[in-house]
Amino acid sequence: MIYHDVAGRTGLLEILSWARPHDSAIERAFCREYLDRVPGMTADAFGNRMIAIGDQPHVMWSCHVDTVAARGGQQDVGIDQLGIAGLCNGKAGMSLGADDGAGVWIMLNMIAAGRPGLYLFHRGEEQGCLGSRWIQRHTPDLLKDIDAAIAFDRAGSGDVITHQSYGRTCSDAFAISLASALNGLNPGFRYRPDDTGVYTDTNEYAGLIPECTNLSVGYQGQHGPRETLDVDHCEKLLAAMLRLDASLLVIERDPSKQEDDRWGWHDHYYGHRDDFADAIAEYPLLAAQMLEECGLTLDDFRMAIWAEEMGGDADYRPLMAS
Ligand SMILES: [Zn+2]
Repeated sequence: MIYHDVAGRTGLLEILSWARPHDSAIERAFCREYLDRVPGMTADAFGNRMIAIGDQPHVMWSCHVDTVAARGGQQDVGIDQLGIAGLCNGKAGMSLGADDGAGVWIMLNMIAAGRPGLYLFHRGEEQGCLGSRWIQRHTPDLLKDIDAAIAFDRAGSGDVITHQSYGRTCSDAFAISLASALNGLNPGFRYRPDDTGVYTDTNEYAGLIPECTNLSVGYQGQHGPRETLDVDHCEKLLAAMLRLDASLLVIERDPSKQEDDRWGWHDHYYGHRDDFADAIAEYPLLAAQMLEECGLTLDDFRMAIWAEEMGGDADYRPLMAS
């Protein structure tokens, strides 16, 4: 069977040209076109796609196929002389979708190169990690041999995430071993442990898998029409992944113990939030306009208010998931 050649910059830009809201016709078509044609790819009952390469892999690679776009369809993507990709005609409700088209592209190219690992293409991450929550609840056995789950789904270019909403999701020793292995493969890299993660699919596995992290892949300003991707960084990360010796990663954390040891994380977060709220109170119309440009609707906002008034019992998840 012929499958899409996603090699190189052309392949990456092609993936970015598909706006893929969860469970839209175009997201389903994307999965059929780009994932199901890969020999050996399978799907679970939720529609997550997966493939294992190598004998009993111990590392799981993770990304998500959905984007935050309000509507599915084709979109025009451009790239400037510095190698920064963005939408050509970005409007409210649109996004480049390098979150997480970049992760999809890196993983498809690692598969094409036969790099060992369990590859998981999650669905519905932007809707509250639906696909990974489904796996965690219904098919946890899939992950029984996995020591490390590494998502390609973090903004910026230097973070190896140690903490997410769960609390600590990987040990410092693991994060340092991964960061130094990457930095050793590209002297231009500045990867280091970062404890300011929020949510991505690997957060769902923190009670099952010892080391769960998320790696910066080069996007910025995700979830809005001004999202960009540093294509150069993304290509360099892929080149490093094709050479990374995953046996060097230090596995230390005990997934049966939950801890959140971020020093002053909550104080810092709420202090920052107070300043932010003051600024919004001063310029409410500007804040409303910016929220709309990020793809958030008045209904979304009312839902959040409702969840807040329910005292946090409602199943609302922050929209700024990665
Ligand atoms: Zn994401």
